[in-house]
Amino acid sequence: MGAIDHIRAVIRQAQQKSAVAAEEVLLLAVTKNVQAEKMNEAVGYGISAIGENRVQEILNKYDQVKGKVDWHLIGHLQTNKVKYIIDKVSLIHSLDSLSLAGEIDKRAGQAGREMPVLVQVNVADEETKFGVAPRETIDFIREISRYPHLRVQGLMTIGPLVEDAEEVRPVFRELRTLRDEIHRLALPGVEMEYLSMGMTNDYHVAVEEGANIVRIGSAIFGKRI
Ligand SMILES: *Cc1c(COP(=O)(O)O)cnc(C)c1O
Repeated sequence: MGAIDHIRAVIRQAQQKSAVAAEEVLLLAVTKNVQAEKMNEAVGYGISAIGENRVQEILNKYDQVKGKVDWHLIGHLQTNKVKYIIDKVSLIHSLDSLSLAGEIDKRAGQAGREMPVLVQVNVADEETKFGVAPRETIDFIREISRYPHLRVQGLMTIGPLVEDAEEVRPVFRELRTLRDEIHRLALPGVEMEYLSMGMTNDYHVAVEEGANIVRIGSAIFGKRI
């Protein structure tokens, strides 16, 4: 778990280097394919939030992870699975369709809560990826801001897979610019507090470009097979 110290140091360096870096950056430990035992070790090491990309993995491990920790859903969410996680996660990073927004709103209402969400934006425009197109994001957020049980709290993106992390910088910068633009619109019920961007290969660049949630798996738990 010494890797966590190293990651925190890299984040601090990136913060010092950049004028647009966030003052506080949440290190979200991504635990797909990671056993509960390892997760508990990470929590013991100061990890306060974990990210899973599959509903089933949250359900499998939810009761086995001890201590005070927030669960975030970061992967694509199918509408018919919302009901299983509505009372378990504290932030959904991957809202990308009106039908999903409607379902989350409905289930959150039934559970007597408000659900914080990030809108996933497909900045890199890769066909295989989920997410709202950048030019459609403002209209999308206007539309979903009407749902009483949804709280839009920011934007998320997944950078393209490239050799050199510098190549992702324009993608992260575009997401920040879009966040700032939406923030200035001051839409009722819409906060633009979070920018979730950066993974093992590119989080240093993401922090320099203003990320305040970085989602890191393999740098903490080792390479996935
Ligand atoms: C797996 C995953 C991550 C973490 O990726 P690493 O390269 O292992 O750090 C971050 N975000 C999402 C959406 C993921 O699915």
